[in-house]
Amino acid sequence: MNNIKVRFAPSPTGYMHIGNTRTAVFNCLLARKLGGCFMLRIDDTDVVRSKKEYEDALRDILQWLGIVWDEEARQSARMARYDEIVSKLKAEGRVYACYETAEELEIMRKRLMAKGLPPIYDRGALNLSRADIARYEAEGRRPHYRFKLEPGVIEWDDMVRGHCRYDAANLADPVIIREDGSYLYHLPSVIDDADFGITHIIRGEDHVTNTASQVQMFAALGAPLPVFAHLPLLTGREGKLSKRLGSLGVRELRAEGVEAMAIVSFLAKLGTSEAIEPFYDWETLAQTLDLNKLGRAQPKFDEEELKTFNTRYIRQMPYEKTAGRTGVDKDFFDAVKGNLTVLADIEEWKNICHQKVKPVIEDKPLTDLAAALLPPEPWTAETFNLWLAEVRAQSGKKGKELFHPLRKALTAAENGPELKTLLPLIGRARAYARLLGQEA
Ligand code: GLU
Repeated sequence: MNNIKVRFAPSPTGYMHIGNTRTAVFNCLLARKLGGCFMLRIDDTDVVRSKKEYEDALRDILQWLGIVWDEEARQSARMARYDEIVSKLKAEGRVYACYETAEELEIMRKRLMAKGLPPIYDRGALNLSRADIARYEAEGRRPHYRFKLEPGVIEWDDMVRGHCRYDAANLADPVIIREDGSYLYHLPSVIDDADFGITHIIRGEDHVTNTASQVQMFAALGAPLPVFAHLPLLTGREGKLSKRLGSLGVRELRAEGVEAMAIVSFLAKLGTSEAIEPFYDWETLAQTLDLNKLGRAQPKFDEEELKTFNTRYIRQMPYEKTAGRTGVDKDFFDAVKGNLTVLADIEEWKNICHQKVKPVIEDKPLTDLAAALLPPEPWTAETFNLWLAEVRAQSGKKGKELFHPLRKALTAAENGPELKTLLPLIGRARAYARLLGQEA
């Protein structure tokens, strides 16, 4: 392994959805393409909203998707390290205490907005005297802390957005510690990225402004700046990705029969200049990763499109990739896969071929004749055509009039794989009985 290292850093405050799955997919693809290390970082600084149940579900989905992590870390276990860095930054004047209440901040924000100014914190806390602080403390106010941005231009080269440039004067000093002493996401994330040697950060473009402040945090820690890639956020059909779609659970998709690699293939190419094609393994897909092919526009995500793609994925699926999940052999799978919508549909065809079926007799003279003409086994590749030619010749029926009654008698189903492929799977004994109208 080289020194390339990425991380996926979910907050265990909900289930995996299509948005954070996409972030995980891109990180994993980059690690695999570059032969780097993939870290799972559990961002559980929010002790109230973080739940073990969510974390377990998250790991389960990642494993199901085939996302393997080489290392893992948990923020709640690193508080002492964050405290250590914060003391240092406080001593350097980069972290400072503020005593405004949420209401006071809101009033300040509204006042600035009313004047048409950006709602940037005025750093009033830096001018507090010892007496002011003593008074606040006596009132029972607890400080929250901000990271002090230095004036100047903040720049980085983004793998998706190109050169990014922010004037620090247009950014508010981010709050990094809440009144109750708990950490917000920004600083711990940078401390972790620095300590764990993260080289590439791929995440949603909703983090771009955080990145601007975080660029200065990396510098304050004396850490090298990782390479950033901010993915355009997904949108729904009507514009913004609705809450329902944004939080569309991967567990639900899985339960509905959407294949893991179908989701991965779909998300990897959505919003790129490449067509969405089925990939049956991570390695092959990873070799095609090119973040330059990702557009700046927000791609539309359509659940129905994913499901349609899933059907295509299954119909093109090589037998070896079913990994024994179907309980049938290659011939059987290849015979019926063109009729599957989800892999579990194979059960229906297993039942039709291997379990009792109550035949539907639509044209008794025709199906009786077909039974009488059914050749003895063993059958060869030619048997079906020879048999059918004979049934056609003797009944005078052709096309739908010939095929439909045969299909209904043999399978009781309206549609399905070609009878030619199905008949050998059903076998002579069952076929014969069913043609005669007997349940078999
Ligand atoms: N826990 C953060 C989130 O889920 C991580 C963001 C990041 O990748 O830095 O949004």
